[in-house]
Amino acid sequence: MRKIMGIAFAFLLLLVSNADYMSTASAKQTQNVEIPVLLYHVVKPDPDPNNPYQFSLEEFEKHMAYLHENGYRTLTMKQYFNILDKKAAMPEKPILLTFDDNSNDFYPYVYPVLQKYGMKATQFTVSDWVNGSWNMTSNEILTVMENGIDIQNHSVSHPFLADLSREQQYEEINDTTTALKELTGRATNVFAYPYGNYNADTISVLEELGFKGAFKVGGGLSTDQSDRYELPRIMILQNHTLDDFIRMVKTGY
Ligand SMILES: [Zn+2]
Repeated sequence: MRKIMGIAFAFLLLLVSNADYMSTASAKQTQNVEIPVLLYHVVKPDPDPNNPYQFSLEEFEKHMAYLHENGYRTLTMKQYFNILDKKAAMPEKPILLTFDDNSNDFYPYVYPVLQKYGMKATQFTVSDWVNGSWNMTSNEILTVMENGIDIQNHSVSHPFLADLSREQQYEEINDTTTALKELTGRATNVFAYPYGNYNADTISVLEELGFKGAFKVGGGLSTDQSDRYELPRIMILQNHTLDDFIRMVKTGY
C-alpha cells in the first residue's frame, strides 16, 4: 500500500511540474514578437469592380477606425525592424501599414484618413512612376514623407525580377535607391518585391546593397523568426469583408 501511495505521489508531482512547465511555455508564447503587415494598393471611392487590387475608400475608413478603436499602434519601418531585432520593446498591438506603387489615390484619399488617426505607414515607391499619369507627384511624395509616411524601394520599373539577370536586378534595385535619395534626401533600406516575385539573385543583391529586409506577399504574421528577406504581408483585396480584415489582422490569414 505504502509503495502504491509512493508511486501515486510521484505521478502527482510529475503532473504538477509538467503543468508548471506548460504554463511557463505558454506565458513565453504570448511574449513572442508577432506583427501583422498590411498591403494595400489603390484605395479610392469608386474602385474598378473588375480589379481586385483596388479597394473601396469607405471600407478602408472602416479598417482604420477598427484599428484605432481597438488600440492598434501603427509603426514606422524603423520601429518595425527594431522590434523584430529586439532592439525595442513591442507595444501591445503593433501593426505595419504598407501601400505599393505610389498611385495617385494615396494623397487625396488615404493620407487624410491616416492623418485623422495620426497613423504611420510606408509607401513602396516605383521610381520610374513618380509623376506618372496615374501616380503621385514628387511634391505629394515629399509632403507625405514629412508627415509620417516612409518612402521605400519598390524597383525602377516594377518588373518580374526573377525573369531578369542578376545585373539587371541590381540596376532595378540600386537605381531606385539613387533616384529616391535624390528626390527625398533620405536613404532607403527596405524593399518590396514587385508582384511578390523574386529569386536567390534578388536576395543576394539586397544583401550586397545593405538592405535591412524585403517584403513578399502572403505568409501570415511577421515574427522575430521571419527571414528578413522574405517578410510576410497580408494583402487586402476588394472582396475582403470587415470580418475578413479583423481575422487577417489577428491571425495573418
Ligand atoms: Zn507593386
